[in-house]
Amino acid sequence: MVQTASPLPSVDALLRAPETQVLLSRFGRTEVTRMLRDTLAQRRAAGLFGVPAAQIIDEAADGLARRLARSQRPVFNLTGTVLHTNLGRAPMPQEAAEAAAEAMRSATTLEFDLETGRRGERDDHVRDLLCELTGAEAATVVNNNAAAVMLVLNTLALGKEVPVSRGELIEIGGAFRVPDIISRSGAVLREVGTTNRTHPRDYQDAIGPATAALMRVHQANYAIVGFTAAVPTERLAAIAHAAGLKLIDDLGSGSLVELERWNLPHEPTPRESLQAGADVVTFSGDKLLGGPQAGLIVGHKTVIEAVNRNPFKRALRLDKGRLAALEVVLRLYRDPDRLTSRLPAMRLLTRSADDIQATAERVKDAVGAFAAGATVTVEPCRSQIGSGALPIDLLSSYALTATANNLEMLAKYFRNLPRPVIGRIAKGQLLLDCRCLEASDEQAFIAQLG
Ligand SMILES: *Cc1c(COP(=O)(O)O)cnc(C)c1O
Repeated sequence: MVQTASPLPSVDALLRAPETQVLLSRFGRTEVTRMLRDTLAQRRAAGLFGVPAAQIIDEAADGLARRLARSQRPVFNLTGTVLHTNLGRAPMPQEAAEAAAEAMRSATTLEFDLETGRRGERDDHVRDLLCELTGAEAATVVNNNAAAVMLVLNTLALGKEVPVSRGELIEIGGAFRVPDIISRSGAVLREVGTTNRTHPRDYQDAIGPATAALMRVHQANYAIVGFTAAVPTERLAAIAHAAGLKLIDDLGSGSLVELERWNLPHEPTPRESLQAGADVVTFSGDKLLGGPQAGLIVGHKTVIEAVNRNPFKRALRLDKGRLAALEVVLRLYRDPDRLTSRLPAMRLLTRSADDIQATAERVKDAVGAFAAGATVTVEPCRSQIGSGALPIDLLSSYALTATANNLEMLAKYFRNLPRPVIGRIAKGQLLLDCRCLEASDEQAFIAQLG
């Protein structure tokens, strides 16, 4: 017997249906037509006919909502890594985000001097601040620290050799590898010393007519321990200068303040590097500095001028939104006493374990109810700074720990929340480190679990 079925409605009929009108005003005719066609095609392919028009429109509405959802969304970072590169590194202060939004919405004085009515320079907005905060003679900014390193090498060492210790030929998560950056920037890497020990004479022996500069790279995300030797920056600068060469120091994270004042371990500052004799120092805007993605270059006037004349500077420059945010964040450093309340990155890094524990206790029941079937408790744990800074678990914290038969599935439930909650799985448990769950977000966090 031949199966007969009522045919599917036409796209035109669906477009005229009263239920479709609200979709048309929300998503526009092109999108709605396309989604209705797709939905009908899926029905036909599945051999399903005789479906009421209202059901097809419902399905199309779901499809449209999925297409409308943004790809990049805010999440709760409960991984325990504060400056998490995959989750966007430093959270920015509200006023910096507002300055960025305002600059992006309107015309600005980006490269305009109000005094003279003539062209200005985009670096003008942060140059003096950077010099003040690092003691440098001159400064400039680019897209990120990888760009800063590349630009400095391309400016100072194009076609020439740069000796670097074998103990510093590092890879930062992703695709930043020191040997690759050096060769792609047009310089020639000259490896010196060994993995664990590099001595002054290793550099001295490597210097010749083809040498352009010496370079030091901060051992950001690892430590070499045991039988080790490295050449201190002062000594390296003296060796470079005796040969008429510049010393480049890539600090990676760097910090504009002495972190010891908050009982955090020391992270090299651009100021101390310049004082030790480095001619040019590069560091990131969105690691410990706590600002937007940016690469900061500070140092001698002659070097910064040469960097600014390099045509690649234009290719790597910073946009007005991030520049506006960076200016706001740098200003906060003029008042270091209030940094831990005003700069989110510093606030999160210095948060007391007691405070974190209290947060964990307050949200525990909601998490337990959401993760029905799992056992949820509050346990001490250790957070990491992240972004390569001080790679060891150092910060005392508290986590909600959940044990369940299927941890991957549980982690996925949390990731599927409207504002996804990202934890970490360790030692057979799902850990939700509460360090980065701030009091201001607690209500929203609990509400979406309900
Ligand atoms: C992080 C890092 C970089 C790269 O900086 P980005 O801001 O990620 O471009 C380069 N060098 C060192 C030592 C780093 O730690």
